[in-house]
Amino acid sequence: MPTPDVVAAVILTVGLGLVFAVWILYDRVDALLHDSRRHRTVFHCVKCGTLYTRPRRRETGVCPKCGHSNLRLRF
Ligand SMILES: [Zn+2]
Repeated sequence: MPTPDVVAAVILTVGLGLVFAVWILYDRVDALLHDSRRHRTVFHCVKCGTLYTRPRRRETGVCPKCGHSNLRLRF
């Protein structure tokens, strides 16, 4: 039969481990969401004037409205 001290120590360790696991999980999910939003490339269609974005960094993007391939906007 474990003493109350050992039981308390085990409960504390498991609790802290759970808190750290959730912390790391949320940190990773947040970084993933933030990266997908940050790594978008902005395009302006020279044919129809539509402003649109595409995921990840790329040099050309096809317009969703007219299908014209445009170069990315540089700021
Ligand atoms: Zn277009």
